[in-house]
Amino acid sequence: MEIMGVRITTIVKDNVATRCDGCREVIEGTPWRINLLDIVATEVPANWSERPALNPGPFQFHGDPAHVRRWMAARGHLFCRLGTVREIMRPVPIPGDEPRWGLCDGIHRDAHEFVPA
Ligand SMILES: [Zn+2]
Ligand SMILES: [Zn+2]
Repeated sequence: MEIMGVRITTIVKDNVATRCDGCREVIEGTPWRINLLDIVATEVPANWSERPALNPGPFQFHGDPAHVRRWMAARGHLFCRLGTVREIMRPVPIPGDEPRWGLCDGIHRDAHEFVPA
């Protein structure tokens, strides 16, 4: 467009804001994307009649692991304290009355130590 001989460049703003899956606030810049790996064979016997569907993502967050932990906690996931929050997390079924998932980066060698996220 042009106003009084001055050309105005239309500012195109992305009107679909990316929101953090942890705190639901808008993410400025590039979001931190986290994917959950497909469930692979585990040593835990699959005795749940119905496993909860696990959305593999990607999920998007601010660049702060606290936001990812908040998301895990809201969904009832446990977090392995031997791992760290990474772009790819491995879901591990937690045996118990309630079907639950623990998330781990799967890099350490020891047995998982799941704690509330
Ligand atoms: Zn956030
Ligand atoms: Zn672990």
